[in-house]
Amino acid sequence: MIVMKFGGTSVGDADAIGRLSSIVAAQRGRKAVVVSALSGITDALLRTARLAAAGDLDEASAAVARIRQRHLEVAAALGLANASGRVDALEPIFAELGSLVRASSLLREVSPRALDAIAATGELASSRLVAAALAARGLPAVWVDPRLVIVTDADFTHAAPLMDETLVSVERVVTPLLARQQVVVTGGYVGATREGVTTTLGRGGSDYSAAIIGASLGADEIQIWTDVDGMLTADPRIVEGPRPVTELSFSEAHELANLGAKVLHPATVEPAVKCDIPVRVLNSRRPEAPGTLITRRPAQGQSAACALACRRPLAVIEIESRGSLRPHEFLSFVAATLERSQMTVALMSAAQSRLTLAVEDDAQVDGVIELLKSAGDVSCQRGMALLSLVGKGTQGDASLFGGAMAALQDIPVCIVSQLPSGRSVGVVVREDDVRAAMTRLHDRFFPQPAVPRYAEA
Ligand code: ASP
Ligand code: MG
Repeated sequence: MIVMKFGGTSVGDADAIGRLSSIVAAQRGRKAVVVSALSGITDALLRTARLAAAGDLDEASAAVARIRQRHLEVAAALGLANASGRVDALEPIFAELGSLVRASSLLREVSPRALDAIAATGELASSRLVAAALAARGLPAVWVDPRLVIVTDADFTHAAPLMDETLVSVERVVTPLLARQQVVVTGGYVGATREGVTTTLGRGGSDYSAAIIGASLGADEIQIWTDVDGMLTADPRIVEGPRPVTELSFSEAHELANLGAKVLHPATVEPAVKCDIPVRVLNSRRPEAPGTLITRRPAQGQSAACALACRRPLAVIEIESRGSLRPHEFLSFVAATLERSQMTVALMSAAQSRLTLAVEDDAQVDGVIELLKSAGDVSCQRGMALLSLVGKGTQGDASLFGGAMAALQDIPVCIVSQLPSGRSVGVVVREDDVRAAMTRLHDRFFPQPAVPRYAEA
């Protein structure tokens, strides 16, 4: 049993839905399909809600009309619209959206509960479209309302699933359909409280829906279909010819995500991680590409390195104690100051009387520097970046660290760290040096030729 989740760009237009249909048709066995809203629709819905909250009914209604029109055009291109250009299954969804927007603009207020009802429209409509497209292709597709499946608390806009109750509804609603060999199609991101009030799981929540459903069904695999070849060894906007990472452990993926890599964040598929269900990230534009398989224990490859990640912009703050505080007081003063301004440290190095901190370069930095001045001399460098080399964590040797330092040669680095596990090496460099530094690290640790060629579709 496989759960296949398709993101917004993989359902963005008729061509994308056509590719989705072929991918679903080619997958053997029992399957459930979870889809995001068409790309850009959730943002458009939330903008519409803001217009309504401001009492701008004309603009808000025009926005609703455009959103409906976009869906109808996709439906028409897929041959799903009737003679008058309408799609029966979609009309009630947009009629309700219109009512919600009218009510909100009369009240000049959009409560979190109303916001969820408005935002849910995106996935309700996209999943209806996809179910119709699959059926038109001759697949035994059946649409399932996600509000009958995912039971959540009432924490609107970021509701948490109630797993025990969700398991019961999955067994009641989804399992019998799968047993009859039907292809279940539902919308991600959306759930409902026990009382049936519409909720959402928070932005990007469709991955979470797929994981919740996958875990409840005891799926063999959860596939996350997106528009890139899975995880890459480096950001293609920074390094030329990064290679796909074929296998990754949940903890490596976690580390990479935290260090700034654009990778599926394991927190979003936590139910799958808990149930030890493999997650595969695949490219809906190139289904033949192997993608990235994320499991608890991936097969060991040759390389000690998984991938590179970059976090920026950062500011590097250096504080030299003037000696008025004892070393431990100095440390706790700095920690308390950071805590008060809720600042997260990306990397730091500490000597007795000197601390160097790389922090997110945001509006807070100047204020924090002022506060720190009471403990010592403070200097700050803006426009910095943290480059991280995430390793397999099994090699306790210094090969990653030594190799990284050798590769960087004359590029100035201002903080260097290695986690004791040998799992990752981090260096802070100037943003201007990111491209050169990343390229050198990439050449050293991922020396094979660029992305293997797949037959172009
Ligand atoms: N459509 C929702 C969003 O844009 C959920 C998702 O796509 O995962 O946040
Ligand atoms: Mg997403």
